[in-house]
Amino acid sequence: MDYRPDAEQQMLIDMVRKFVREEIVPLEDNLDPDGAELDPADHARLVAKTKAMGLYGIDIPKEFGGPDIDIVTRTLLAIEMSQHRAGLYVPCYGVFGGAGLAQLFEANADQKERYLFPTLRGEKKVFFGLTEPSGGSDPARAIKTRAERKEQGWVINGSKIFISGADRAQYGIVFARTDASKGRGGITCFIVDSDTPGFHVRRVVHTLRSASYATELEFKDCWVSDAQVLGEVNKGFAIANDRLSRQRIPYAASCIGVAIKANEMAIEWAKIRSTFGELLANRQAVQWMLVDNELDIRSSRYFTLEAAQKALRGEPFRTEAAMAKLTASEAGGRVVDRSMQIFGGMGMTKDLPLERWYREMRIRRIGEGPSEVQRMVIAREIVSGGVGNA
Ligand SMILES: Cc1cc2nc3c(=O)[nH]c(=O)nc-3n(C[C@H](O)[C@H](O)[C@H](O)COP(=O)(O)OP(=O)(O)OC[C@H]3O[C@@H](n4cnc5c(N)ncnc54)[C@H](O)[C@@H]3O)c2cc1C
Repeated sequence: MDYRPDAEQQMLIDMVRKFVREEIVPLEDNLDPDGAELDPADHARLVAKTKAMGLYGIDIPKEFGGPDIDIVTRTLLAIEMSQHRAGLYVPCYGVFGGAGLAQLFEANADQKERYLFPTLRGEKKVFFGLTEPSGGSDPARAIKTRAERKEQGWVINGSKIFISGADRAQYGIVFARTDASKGRGGITCFIVDSDTPGFHVRRVVHTLRSASYATELEFKDCWVSDAQVLGEVNKGFAIANDRLSRQRIPYAASCIGVAIKANEMAIEWAKIRSTFGELLANRQAVQWMLVDNELDIRSSRYFTLEAAQKALRGEPFRTEAAMAKLTASEAGGRVVDRSMQIFGGMGMTKDLPLERWYREMRIRRIGEGPSEVQRMVIAREIVSGGVGNA
C-alpha cells in the first residue's frame, strides 16, 4: 500500500509545517515546561491564524462548519502539527481538542443549538465523563453511577474520576447506568450543565504531567430533564465506543509527530557531539538506537494510516485503530526514551522538550484505553479469524 501524500496533501502538510516552525516553535522558550497550555493571548492568535488558513477544527464535519478534510489527510496533518514542544497541547486545529464534542454531532436540533454550536464557536467547553473509580478499561461493567427516572427527568448519583478539564467546562457528556439488569445495554448518555445542582468537581487529580491534571466528579441527587438525554435511553455505550475508536487515530498520529521530532533532534545531536574522539553518529550503538527509532516511527505511521484509510473507505476500523493506538503510543515512548539517552545529561533537562514528551508518552499508554485493552481488541479479532487478510 502506498501511504505517500498526494500533491494536495503535501501542500497542506507544507503549510502546517511552516506554521508550526514559524508560529509555534518560537513560543517554546516562553512555555512553562510543565505547563499544559499556551499563554491565552498566544493561543487566541494561533486559533485566528489556523482559521485564516482554513485549518481550524479540521475534525469538525463540513455541515457544522468544518473545512471538509478527509480523515487520511487529517491524520497526516495531525502528525505534522505535533512536532513541537507544546506538541500535544495545541488544540487550535481541533483534531485533538474534540473530547466529548464528537458525540454532539449526533445530538438533536435543540441540543446542537444549546451545546454543539456554542462549543464550536469556542464559547463553551465540554468534558467527557466515562471513567469511574471502579474502572475505565471496561466501562460496560464498571459504571456504577446511576440515573433513575423521576419527574420527566433523571436523578444521577455517583462519581467519575480522571476526567480531563471538567473544572473549566460549562457542561459534560456523562455516562450513567439506567438499567441495572443490563451491561452495555443499560447505559445512557446525558448532557450535564456544570451548574446543575447536585453536580460538583470534588477535586483536581494531579497526574504525571505535573501541571496537567484530571478531575474527580460527584453527582448527588443531580436532576436533569429528559431534554438532556443524548441519543436514546440505554444506547449510551455505543456512543462512547464509537468516540473511543475514532479518537484513537488522531491520538496515535500525535504520538508519531512527537516521535519524529524527538528522533530528528537525536540525529542532529549525534552528528555534532563527540565522545572519545569520535562523533556519536559514527558509533554503532548509537546508530542502532536511531535505526530502532526509524522502525518504530515507520511501523506506527503504517498502522495509523491504514486505520485512517479504512475509516475513509467506510469499512470497520476498530481493530486497526487499536493497532494504531497501541503501536504509536508504545513506539513513541521508546523513541523519546532512546533520544534522551543519546542526549545524555541534556536529555534530562527541561531545556529540551524530551522529558516533557517522556511523561506525556507514559500517560499515552493508559489514556484512551490502556495498551492491554488495545491488545484485547486485536486479539478478539485474531481469534475470530478477522485479521490477516489485509
Ligand atoms: C491524564 C488522564 C486523563 C484522562 N482523561 C479522561 C477523560 O477525560 N474522560 C474519561 O472518561 N477518562 C479519562 N481518563 C481515564 C482513562 O481513560 C483510564 O485511566 C483508562 O481507561 C484505564 O482505566 P483505569 O485507570 O480505571 O484502569 P483499570 O481499568 O483499572 O485497568 C488497570 C490496568 O489493568 C490492565 N488491564 C485492564 N484490562 C485488561 C485486560 N483485559 N487484560 C490485561 N490487562 C488489563 C491495564 O494495564 C490497565 O492499565 C484519563 C486518564 C488519565 C491518566
